[in-house]
Amino acid sequence: MPSDFRIAVFSGDGIGPEITAPTCRVLRKLQDLSRRFQLHFEDAPAGASHYAKTGESLPAASLATAREAHAILLSAMGDPAIRYPDGTEISPQIELRKEMGLYAGLRPVRIAPGYPTPLRLPQDRVVDFMLVRESTEGLFWSMGRGEVTPDEARETLVITRETSRKLFRQTFELARQRSARQGRQGRVTCVDKANVFRAFAFFRDVFKSEAAAYPDIAHDASYVDAMALKMVSAPWALDVLVTENMFGDILSDLGAGLMGGLGLAPSADIGDTNAVFQPCHGSAPDIAGRGVANPIAMILSGGMMLDWLAARHGDAALAEAATRLQAATDKVIADGATLTPDLGGNSDTEAVADAIISALESGWS
Ligand code: NAD
Repeated sequence: MPSDFRIAVFSGDGIGPEITAPTCRVLRKLQDLSRRFQLHFEDAPAGASHYAKTGESLPAASLATAREAHAILLSAMGDPAIRYPDGTEISPQIELRKEMGLYAGLRPVRIAPGYPTPLRLPQDRVVDFMLVRESTEGLFWSMGRGEVTPDEARETLVITRETSRKLFRQTFELARQRSARQGRQGRVTCVDKANVFRAFAFFRDVFKSEAAAYPDIAHDASYVDAMALKMVSAPWALDVLVTENMFGDILSDLGAGLMGGLGLAPSADIGDTNAVFQPCHGSAPDIAGRGVANPIAMILSGGMMLDWLAARHGDAALAEAATRLQAATDKVIADGATLTPDLGGNSDTEAVADAIISALESGWS
């Protein structure tokens, strides 16, 4: 009997629907090729255009669909032209993180052959590291709570022991999985600013206490400014990084830039019981409606979803599908014949999905 999984799908705003359809098409193809699992996609309306139509940005029914699903697939939400009365943007993706306690944001940084990285890498160097961004507190805790007077503005950063401990445990478990898969010693680096701020000294202390439970994984710490430099000067030396929300927000875009652009950068936001998988990029209103958005970041996010479901449910078929999807996508990028304009190509969104499906079919045995 194939295993069954319910996937809540937020197709979102701007290019969102344009990249969601091909992503679901690729995932359905994997399901058909494997025949050992089934994915049931359930539509969850939300976002800026939904708010413009109905006055609701994240309807209770969509939140319920998300809560009840095995996993959540999200494209991107937001439209700078549609805002709440206080002038802020509609960002249900951030509300979802808070509502569902998705504290661990996973941002893989991989540079495979053909990736249009701006780095000039030495021949024998492989870049493949994971940035884990705390996603519910840190400086983002202050969202909507900032105080502004005519003369000054204040925002408060919050780091709790409870969330930090859970974050570090998830991170060390992930380092263990990577170490087993790659057959090499794992290392977790805590990225902070412990030399200046007490809150980050606290963050680092909690990190060290949790590290003691993982003697098989090496650990160290780095200041965030030094890490920004290292990500550019010696990214091949990194394995797993863990950091506060705001630092992670900035470093993850740096990571996407190293890979060759937002169109290639997938992500996951993970909690105790559920997880959202979405590209790092936004709804790209500047190119929406033209059918030229790059679907790869969302397709790779779908791959991360399969991997997470595989680990959670002990399902080898899903793990195999995730590995094959990564390989097929790498092949299409390395080949370079079918790429969207952001990667220097002239293909459209659907053509890239077709090329990934062909690579999957030809590689399946
Ligand atoms: P953006 O990521 O949408 O776009 C930045 C640039 O990258 C644009 O030039 C865009 O065309 C390009 N780009 C992004 N994704 C692409 C893709 N898949 N293929 C080709 N090009 C791509 O960032 P922005 O312009 O700052 O934000 C636009 C909207 O998205 C805003 O409303 C913002 O709030 C929202 N946003 C949402 C999320 C999310 O849902 N997780 C994240 C960031 C921004």
